[in-house]
Amino acid sequence: MTTDWHSFAEPAALGEALLAWGAAHGRHAIPWKRRPDGSRPADGEPLDPYPIWCAEIMLQQTQLQVVLPYWQRWMAAFPTVDALATASEHDVLLQWQGLGYYSRARRLQQGARQLAGQPWPRELDGWLVLPGVGRSTAGSILSSAFDLPHPILDGNVKRVLTRLIASPRPPSRDTAHLWRLSEQLLGPGQPRAFNQALMDLGATVCTPRTPRCGDCPWQGHCAAYAAGSPTAYPVKEAPRELPFEVIGVGVVGNTAGQVLIDQRLNEGLLGGLWEFPGGKQEPGEAIETTIARELREELAIEVSVGEELIVVDHAYSHKRLRFVVHLCTWICGEPQPLASQQVRWVAPAELEAYPFPAANARIIAALLQHLQTGPKNAEAA
Ligand code: SF4
Repeated sequence: MTTDWHSFAEPAALGEALLAWGAAHGRHAIPWKRRPDGSRPADGEPLDPYPIWCAEIMLQQTQLQVVLPYWQRWMAAFPTVDALATASEHDVLLQWQGLGYYSRARRLQQGARQLAGQPWPRELDGWLVLPGVGRSTAGSILSSAFDLPHPILDGNVKRVLTRLIASPRPPSRDTAHLWRLSEQLLGPGQPRAFNQALMDLGATVCTPRTPRCGDCPWQGHCAAYAAGSPTAYPVKEAPRELPFEVIGVGVVGNTAGQVLIDQRLNEGLLGGLWEFPGGKQEPGEAIETTIARELREELAIEVSVGEELIVVDHAYSHKRLRFVVHLCTWICGEPQPLASQQVRWVAPAELEAYPFPAANARIIAALLQHLQTGPKNAEAA
């Protein structure tokens, strides 16, 4: 059974039902949706867009419960758009460490530099020019901060709407239709409360695996519920096999007890973060050979490759990586940043002052553990 929004006799009735549900059951404690004193804003009352914007960027790939402590630390470190604009990139990445998708942090800071000293935009276009801000993020900021009637279409909302109409297509192939539906349901009244209730419905009732249709204000209108198969929607994209690569990584120690780290170039997924050097294993190559070769090619140093420290598997959205990490001893060659921004010898205890990708955090933990318990073969670090 499929339905599009034109089939709803009264979109306004859906809006009213959702608003009533949101007032009673919505997540009203979200701190960036409240006044500075913690109370709830009146309809039409503006809120500071800065905390909302920061939260929206964090929420793009991350769940609310995970975001909350990061957002609190972030707001303490960078309480205003000017503070973020003038912060060092190092501090920005450090505050973001652990949230993943670090380009979001750099884009947020770029946006802060564009907006610092300007009045806050109240039009969609004023937000869409900022890096990392798409139509749904902009709509959410404008409705949350200024109670303006802009629709949203994040992951939760796509799920609710595709179920509501039992869309036969994956959301990525039905985007224009879903936007139209979100806009029609929003209507002109109480956009802040409506969008918030829609997000809350997706996050707390119309959940991916176990929707609580009995508690849903839209149950009587929902095509997926009527068909008896809410979890069959959204229809999935055809699965694709993620490429798999093995990365040889060297934790290179010198005679001063320091280890070598390098800072990635700014482009790409983990741009600007620090890491232990290494690179992709070639077909048929022993991992020790990979590590020695990569360190020669990328840092112009010679090392002796010692025992394995740890193997870390990590999945990104586009590929799966296995990091095979060995302790190494520096032999000769002044380290050069041939494929990175800079290289640095640091004491292991100082590593926590550098922002690292998640996979490297496990390498650091293994290294510190190894140094505490003592090297097995008296070989490295
Ligand atoms: S009735 Fe169930 S499937 Fe339909 S919108 Fe509500 S929670 Fe989602």
